[in-house]
Amino acid sequence: MKKEVAFTCELPNGIHARPANHLEAVCSQFKSDITLKNLRNGNQGSAKSVLSLVGTDTLLDDPCSLIIEGDDAEQAFETLAKYIQEEFPHCDEELVVMEQGDVLMPQSLMRHNPTLIHAKRLSAGIAKGKLVRYTDVELSVFDGEEASMSFADAKQAVTESLLAKAETANGQEKEIINAHLGILKDDALNDQVNAMVKQGDSLARAILKTVAAITDTLLQSSSDYLKERVLDIKDIALQLLITSHPHLNVLTEFTLSEPSVVIANDLTPSQFLGLDRAYLKGLILTQAGSTSHTVILARAFNIPAVSGVAIEQCASQEGETIYVDGGLGVVAVETSESVAAYFERAIWLADKKAQVEGEFVHQAAQTKDGKGIEIAANIACTVEAEPAFAKGAEGIGLFRTEMLFMDRATAPDEDEQFNAYKAVLEAAEGKPVIIRTMDIGGDKPIDYLNLPHEHNPFLGYRAVRIYPQFLALFHTQIRAILRAAPFGHTKVMIPMIQSIEEIRWVKEQIATVKAVMDSEGVSYGEIELGIMVEIPSVAFIMDQFCKEVDFFSIGSNDMTQYLLAVDRDNDNVAKLYNSLAPSFLRLLDAVVKGAHANDKWVGLCGELGANKKVLPLLIGAGLDELSMAAPSIAPTKAALRQFDSAQCRELFEQACNCATIADVEALLDTFSRAQEDKPLLATECVLLDCDFNSKEEAIQTLVGNLGIQGRTHLVSELEADIWAREEVFSTGLGNGFAIPHTKSDNITHSSISIARLKKPVRWSEDEDSDADFVIMLTLNKDQGDQHMRIFSGLARKLIHESFRNTIKNMATEDEVIGFLKSELAL
Ligand code: PEP
Ligand code: MG
Repeated sequence: MKKEVAFTCELPNGIHARPANHLEAVCSQFKSDITLKNLRNGNQGSAKSVLSLVGTDTLLDDPCSLIIEGDDAEQAFETLAKYIQEEFPHCDEELVVMEQGDVLMPQSLMRHNPTLIHAKRLSAGIAKGKLVRYTDVELSVFDGEEASMSFADAKQAVTESLLAKAETANGQEKEIINAHLGILKDDALNDQVNAMVKQGDSLARAILKTVAAITDTLLQSSSDYLKERVLDIKDIALQLLITSHPHLNVLTEFTLSEPSVVIANDLTPSQFLGLDRAYLKGLILTQAGSTSHTVILARAFNIPAVSGVAIEQCASQEGETIYVDGGLGVVAVETSESVAAYFERAIWLADKKAQVEGEFVHQAAQTKDGKGIEIAANIACTVEAEPAFAKGAEGIGLFRTEMLFMDRATAPDEDEQFNAYKAVLEAAEGKPVIIRTMDIGGDKPIDYLNLPHEHNPFLGYRAVRIYPQFLALFHTQIRAILRAAPFGHTKVMIPMIQSIEEIRWVKEQIATVKAVMDSEGVSYGEIELGIMVEIPSVAFIMDQFCKEVDFFSIGSNDMTQYLLAVDRDNDNVAKLYNSLAPSFLRLLDAVVKGAHANDKWVGLCGELGANKKVLPLLIGAGLDELSMAAPSIAPTKAALRQFDSAQCRELFEQACNCATIADVEALLDTFSRAQEDKPLLATECVLLDCDFNSKEEAIQTLVGNLGIQGRTHLVSELEADIWAREEVFSTGLGNGFAIPHTKSDNITHSSISIARLKKPVRWSEDEDSDADFVIMLTLNKDQGDQHMRIFSGLARKLIHESFRNTIKNMATEDEVIGFLKSELAL
């Protein structure tokens, strides 16, 4: 029987990998042969092969036809006619990209007119290194060469070597190997190579032509998923070529021999892991998205990274020293001496900050009065675990396992998952690990599950709600976790629970899985069971939930959006998304009280946990744990020590009784100023014997130091305030003294900073203003009229030579502070 579904392609980017994957999954359910014919260009290909579908080069508005031939053509026709009309046009919605937001560029950099390439921020930190272009082996070296084995033998050999690697690999590496094994089996690749060899092409030529044809078509797309496929296909082609041409001795290692910033179109996670991290200082990627696995790895290993820079933009800089600032999202090239000095100073400040925070890495997380709050890490893949513990994590508060299922052709099997969970539990060395079962669906699409397109994904088919349909998948995950459980302190957490019925159903499934394992004699360990509290309904029946589960973790990201009915990814309503809403705080209170009334543990694993400003409220709420991205752990532990838990509780109660978000913010501001005992004059703000080369460097360092000392969270903003004042009049007062100053909202704790320079720097056009002693005043607007009083007091003192000589020649920071305190009566 033969049937035909005619349609016009409505996909804006045509049929590239993502829609092709969807269509292929639907067609593969049927036995009939199904061919996609593009009536514009006459191309046609099997609708059961992703590569063939993409190869039809089908673009927006192309007239097409699906031709179905076979026994079940009638059924296939019915399904496909409906699918093509209702779902196919919607299967290529834009992927959600990480919000970039505006970054204020530091004045101390911009005043030097740097040559900057603006990029997308992926991983924070500043890198300095020789720019090295990542080069894959040129496939063309094989052209014209004779193979020493057949295609079938080469494929067999590559398959065997991949299978052998898969045995010892886990996590990311294993996922990649499995994807590559899938490509080796793809009919489109095999049929084309075989056909060309039959027509007389050498094996190398056949592989090269096939790969070129496939990649040319794939590269026309703008989809990240598709580009990853190109890399994978090239990877496999290379392995086939190397295996079938052993006599050419082609080496694939990419070696770095000095501190380097690597630029590449894209890197697969395995290519990233293959780079020598002793020399890898930074990454510039053309295409990587903020959630790609390579980027997650870069963050885990503290490698600054940006994307959105074309290789050609930096081509002239290859071999030159450049700087990458992952926090600012810039690549600095052709750096002048003063721009280089800015970056060297910025690296120095970052190291100093890491040193200050490093003291807290392995200290227990507790408040000033000794109340412990566990500070844990959020991770998304296994390799993040070890670095997270090295950064002071006291547990894993959220292992987002859905990442194991994303960006691949099939779900990870039980062994692969078991190895991933076991690896994290072993890295934890007995500390608790909360493994969240897959939070798939809605906004986190997974092509091979073929979930329906939804108009309202956040309220839709997601997380625990899809488990009944994908029962085998859920059972496999539970089985893998149960098997891994003996390797550590294992806690399992179910996402998006909103009713008792759901958690009871989950418990039945766990019991079923255990029964099967018992019957098979498969051993497993103990787990604690918990739920994410992210749907507000849970808060109203905490007493009931406490009868069902062992622990809770609040997903503040989702809980905020559901409570306030504000889509967390919609820019139009972003202003309304705020977890400081008194209603949210009351909800938080209800959840914590509800859990504690029944002696249950309750943590928080949304982004709110890493927000330093909100920390006193989270302490006050009485949470047992805060879980966050690993780089925030040490700063949070440091900040925790400044607060008294009873005072935080009082603050939290007051905040719950506020009417508006602004009221809560004002309360918090006053509280943090009063809480942290930071005097106006302190040795931590005195820098003696500085080797600054410019006024810019002096201000950059003094303001940067205020950031390190926790006196401001807004370094660039505060610096801009200082420069705004300098624009109006120079603060170089003669006799080698300068008093830059500002009265600003951007300083939390009013501070007087002092720098004594080894040699004077030019402070304004006027030579007389050269300064080698800088006293910087950064005073908070809310702290009265101190500003003018201190400035004029200082100016009066500076008239006297004896004052100037005394302060310039002091031996220690303490002496400087003591002298100023008494002279200024502070
Ligand atoms: C949350 O909702 O706060 C959470 C931690 O889960 P996710 O961000 O993965 O939805
Ligand atoms: Mg969530």
